[in-house]
Amino acid sequence: MDLVEFQGKQLFGRNGVPVPPAGSVCRTVDEIVAAATSQLAGGASAVVVKAQVKTGGRGKAGGVKLATSVEQAREHAESILGLDIKGHVVQVVYVEPASDIVEEYYLSVMHDRVSKGHLVICSREGGVDIEEVNRTNPDAVVKRLLTSAEVADGLPLDTATAIVTDANLPDEVLASAAQLLVALFGAYRAEDATLAEINPLIRRPDDSVIALDAKVSLDGNAAFRHDGYAEWKIDGLDADDPLEAEAKAKGIQYVKLDGSVGVLGNGAGLVMATLDVVAQNGGRAANFLDVGGGASADAMAESLGLVLRDPAVRSVLVNIFGGITRGEEVANGVVEATNRLGDFPQKLVVRLDGTNAEEGRRILEAANLPNVVAAATMQEAAATAVQFAG
Ligand code: GDP
Ligand code: MN
Repeated sequence: MDLVEFQGKQLFGRNGVPVPPAGSVCRTVDEIVAAATSQLAGGASAVVVKAQVKTGGRGKAGGVKLATSVEQAREHAESILGLDIKGHVVQVVYVEPASDIVEEYYLSVMHDRVSKGHLVICSREGGVDIEEVNRTNPDAVVKRLLTSAEVADGLPLDTATAIVTDANLPDEVLASAAQLLVALFGAYRAEDATLAEINPLIRRPDDSVIALDAKVSLDGNAAFRHDGYAEWKIDGLDADDPLEAEAKAKGIQYVKLDGSVGVLGNGAGLVMATLDVVAQNGGRAANFLDVGGGASADAMAESLGLVLRDPAVRSVLVNIFGGITRGEEVANGVVEATNRLGDFPQKLVVRLDGTNAEEGRRILEAANLPNVVAAATMQEAAATAVQFAG
């Protein structure tokens, strides 16, 4: 689950990562004006009006603006609310007392899938696209994979100091930046984040460093340890894909993809292989759905219904290798699903093999479903489904 900036800053703040003075979350021009009025009256020389959307590059898109007067804040409010930033329409704005910036750096901790470890990235060149810096000036970007000893009891201050020193941060900020990194790593672990990124990390005139921006992704698999991340769910922010949310609620292993062939199988390995075979036949899978071992007719019908309700799905490949899962249950599930759904435009290609496959095929044949086609092999099933998808 991705957080927006103000949530990331809240998460940082409660874990000891220094952030700017707290601002206000606003949804209307009037709320933005009121927040700016009170912050300017409270001694801020300027406020910053920031679009809260789950994408980067808000500054470049006109979604981050400084105001030194209430009038200016109103103008920014009007231009930012409703602004489309890379397909995300701004509904929530954060108004924060502006910070004075001497320099901008980059600092992040993330889960590295390749090494299955935790990676710290630090650069003296922040506030800009870090991937661009990495391409044009890779020496300016320090990447440090943490050892398991470093991870076990929290990031040692020595390690943090070495990292910020390697990144050539100026002497004046080394101590506070190292402390901040220790806190950042603590936040990342305590909150089960997969990414905690600060871009820019800023140096203020008094040489203190704070997180001016926050990008945090939380690990969905750890949601059960955090009350389902309920505290971060607020209206106006991009919701999860509605079908993924429904699948999660029903306990179905479903991931939305961007193709047109719905894929449903039993066992994650078989489903992955099915995605490959669809691709080899020139198609693109619309989803990953694992009905699991021993799927009942009801689970089968629920899963199939979910896939068929995706408007991007033009055909569906049901690929079942029966072990614990029995062919007749699968077939009954297909029949049940077609009964429940009534008319639907997509064709289903069903490949049944393994336990009681024969019986399953007989059930399908007897039901004489107009939208359902049987296939003898996985290859044949994929080719047919891709063909139906057009
Ligand atoms: P992003 O464009 O989505 O990454 O949004 P950021 O929060 O990183 O803001 C973009 C840029 O706006 C920063 O790199 C800063 O240069 C500038 N900016 C943001 N907040 C402030 C602030 O409080 N004071 C000043 N002076 N500049 C700011
Ligand atoms: Mn940023």
